[in-house]
Amino acid sequence: MTAPATPPVRTPDPRALDAAVAALTSEDLAGIVDLVAYPVSAEGEPAVVVARHDGAVRLTADGAHDVLFGRDPVAHTDPLAFLPYDAEIAEPSPPNHANAYPDPGRRLLSFFADPGRSPDIAVVHTPRHFFPETGGHRGEHGSLDVIQSRAPFLVSGAGVLPDGVVRDHARTVDVAPTLLHAAGVDVDQQLDAGGLPLDGVARTDLVTGGAGRFVIGLLWDGAHCSDLLHLAAAGELPGIARLLAGGVALAGGAVAEFPSVTLCNHTSLLTGVGPGRHGVLGNVYYDRELGRRIVPNDETTWHRSADWLRPGVATVFETLAAARPGSRTACINEAVDRGADVSTMALIRASSELRGSGGLDAAMPPAESSAYLSDVAHLADKYYRWATRVDDAGLMQAQAAWASVAEAPRLMWWSHVVTDAGHHAGGPRSGIARDSFRDADRRLQAFLDHLDRLGVTDDVTFLLTADHGFESADESVTGSWAPSLEAALAPLSIPYRDEGPGFVYLGDA
Ligand SMILES: [Zn+2]
Repeated sequence: MTAPATPPVRTPDPRALDAAVAALTSEDLAGIVDLVAYPVSAEGEPAVVVARHDGAVRLTADGAHDVLFGRDPVAHTDPLAFLPYDAEIAEPSPPNHANAYPDPGRRLLSFFADPGRSPDIAVVHTPRHFFPETGGHRGEHGSLDVIQSRAPFLVSGAGVLPDGVVRDHARTVDVAPTLLHAAGVDVDQQLDAGGLPLDGVARTDLVTGGAGRFVIGLLWDGAHCSDLLHLAAAGELPGIARLLAGGVALAGGAVAEFPSVTLCNHTSLLTGVGPGRHGVLGNVYYDRELGRRIVPNDETTWHRSADWLRPGVATVFETLAAARPGSRTACINEAVDRGADVSTMALIRASSELRGSGGLDAAMPPAESSAYLSDVAHLADKYYRWATRVDDAGLMQAQAAWASVAEAPRLMWWSHVVTDAGHHAGGPRSGIARDSFRDADRRLQAFLDHLDRLGVTDDVTFLLTADHGFESADESVTGSWAPSLEAALAPLSIPYRDEGPGFVYLGDA
């Protein structure tokens, strides 16, 4: 079912690649660099090498691990690692030898498959690395590892059995096909616009297709899967508990595409393909064809998401409209909105101020008067303050889209931001992260109450997910690989860029 990964088109100068990999895998950097990955060709087949100072492995699409020397740095691939949750709490932010990296070959091959945008080398931070000087926080994500890659996956309502939490996992690329299946679209016809099968599959084992009149996808950005389920079980998240009482959640959640960052995975969630096909490689990347840096995950650029999508990619909104003409769709506070009938980003595109999402600032309610805020002290965090306003505005838009059953969208997708803000600010299990869950849950309860008043809740299939997980950095583990990389490449007079940082492009100034 999976489309073949295409080999990288360009090969970097081998001297530069060797020098950069040697520098980045130096034992001196092992506290901050977990893995270094780069694409190679193995007898004409695309492959990826994953290296550390104490070992390297070559991965191919068939799942093979060919150890090149030392020990395999991604030997453990169990997507259900660190479950039950006590196991994660007992060893948070683990070192490489104790960590797990689900599906490393397929995910890395997709990451390196875009000929114009994939870097030559990916540098993966250790979970403990604290790098505020280049945008890092107490809570971070982006790694290939299981906890940063573990988003929740919960389905509920029409067509779903009330099985509770089960030992299973999905992938973020499975979300689009599962939403389409829930909306009654034939799974076998779920191809991209270029006629290729999607990378993800519909979870037909969890949801009966077309069982409800309506489908609602909820994205809680950066929601830590196990802590979400833990708080729901403890009675702290009544909205989630209500969905769970009428549905099923996968303990292993949805494994994010690599890198486990926001825009890469929002795009995978809503298109069903990995970054090598949709082209949104990260929150920032370099486009060699355009000769410039692209920053898709920014307040000023979200509304332009359609600009970055590669040809052949279709959003769930486009696929549903093609399969079931006349089906209305709504897309709230989500960048990847192409084809939706009602969309926040469309309002921003239409706004005369032409300042991107910032242009709607005046239309958002003030944070201080939010009815959903656990603790006004959290508003001292600028991101949390903004997220509170965005999510309150999101609830208003969702309720407006659902003003009546007659006008209701067949498929609505609603992204929430506050969970990402809370987890970045304090890391998983911190007071502010848990309050961000409570805030999001109050908005969910308000929306479920709204559906109850319309008398339509039982006719809705819900899917709640996220784009990535989170781990806590250790504020004593600091430093940068930039000086080592610079020192290794300067003698060769080969220019390079390190975007992110972590996406290394050799030969590009
Ligand atoms: Zn995110």
